[in-house]
Amino acid sequence: MNRVASDKTYPEIRDAVARLCEQFPGEYWRRLDREKAYPTEFVTALTAAGYLSVLIPEEYGGSGLPLAAACAVLEEIQRSGGNGGACHAQMYTMGTLLRHGSDAQKRQYLPAIADGSLRLQAFGVTEPSSGTDTSRIRTSAARDGDDYVVNGQKVFISRSLHSDLMVLLVRTTPRDQCPRHTDGMSVLLVDMREALGNGLTIKPVETMMNHATTELFFDNLRVPAKNLIGPEGEGFRCILDGMNAERILIAAECIGDARWFTAKSSSYARERVVFDRPIGQNQGVQFPIARAHIQTEAAALMVQRAADLYDAGKPAGAEANMAKLLASEAAWAAADTCIQTHGGYGFATEYDIERKFRETRLYQVAPISTNLILSFIATRELDLPRSF
Ligand SMILES: Cc1cc2nc3c(=O)[nH]c(=O)nc-3n(C[C@H](O)[C@H](O)[C@H](O)COP(=O)(O)OP(=O)(O)OC[C@H]3O[C@@H](n4cnc5c(N)ncnc54)[C@H](O)[C@@H]3O)c2cc1C
Repeated sequence: MNRVASDKTYPEIRDAVARLCEQFPGEYWRRLDREKAYPTEFVTALTAAGYLSVLIPEEYGGSGLPLAAACAVLEEIQRSGGNGGACHAQMYTMGTLLRHGSDAQKRQYLPAIADGSLRLQAFGVTEPSSGTDTSRIRTSAARDGDDYVVNGQKVFISRSLHSDLMVLLVRTTPRDQCPRHTDGMSVLLVDMREALGNGLTIKPVETMMNHATTELFFDNLRVPAKNLIGPEGEGFRCILDGMNAERILIAAECIGDARWFTAKSSSYARERVVFDRPIGQNQGVQFPIARAHIQTEAAALMVQRAADLYDAGKPAGAEANMAKLLASEAAWAAADTCIQTHGGYGFATEYDIERKFRETRLYQVAPISTNLILSFIATRELDLPRSF
């Protein structure tokens, strides 16, 4: 791929990704959606073209580009009508490995991830009993000689059946023995190929869209202690970098979704004639489309700002959260408007709108729900008292 980026919006990357996506049209995604199948061919093509390794430094075989470039890739996939949810984790888990992995770990894993021989697509945080309160995770790792022994359960861990590695958050010290409740957690890099059947069981979870998400059961899974990323007990802080990157990247995907929906709405509203005039001539039809467009462009500025801060190594927590909230709501406004604009046809699968509508709804809940973002901004930015 072309490593020269002439513009912070990466137009040449966008063009090239759009061309690649043309090989995977709506009917490809519709078939996968129907069969609940993983887009292996799409992910392979994306990997071969180097787009999933844009964040990996050049010395390890990647393109060494900033997060803004990864945003351009994911936004373009969504804007083309595809679904980057199948592979976006490789980009956002990278923040944890790049910033907190040892030199030996980076040398061992990054070149293979960059050339596509290793897939890092699974990120294991959520548990059934802890919900959004990550400090209450119960999956534990106890040191035993040269290994950690992992026991517990995770839920909604996406792509784990299509990944060779997983970034896994575990408790290494019980919560009640830690000075702060976010202390005592650690990050392990789990080799899924060795783990499956040797203490790790994976069960698919069916959802309303095609997302390859799963439940994981750990029963005395042994993970080599050398696979600890960052210091023991500081796992929460190590994944925070990854989480900010994740929110910014997901926000970029939402911008892509929103632009796809609005393009569809505008084009249909120009062409569909009812009562002897294009429906888009009616302000009742055109205003919601215009409003969704305005929301999208405002959200896109926040995504860009969050990515710039992240790339400059500055604190980006507030902006990453605000970008995710604004972009997911803009995508939802554009999606809802798109269904309404298309009338009955919005519900017909061949238009792809109902599929994208189901897919984009996720981003108001995952990777962090809207309420939790509002709470973060209220308490951290506005110094309001915490409710929990
Ligand atoms: C398709 C899919 C894929 C996913 N992929 C992954 C993955 O790869 N890895 C991973 O680790 N996780 C993944 N998740 C999990 C996702 O991040 C969580 O579902 C999400 O963070 C919400 O957690 P929860 O479902 O436990 O909701 P809960 O924490 O139970 O919350 C339920 C609702 O209550 C609200 N709520 C909770 N507490 C408060 C409060 N104090 N104030 C106000 N409102 C509150 C929340 O906002 C939410 O709307 C995925 C989820 C889905 C659905």
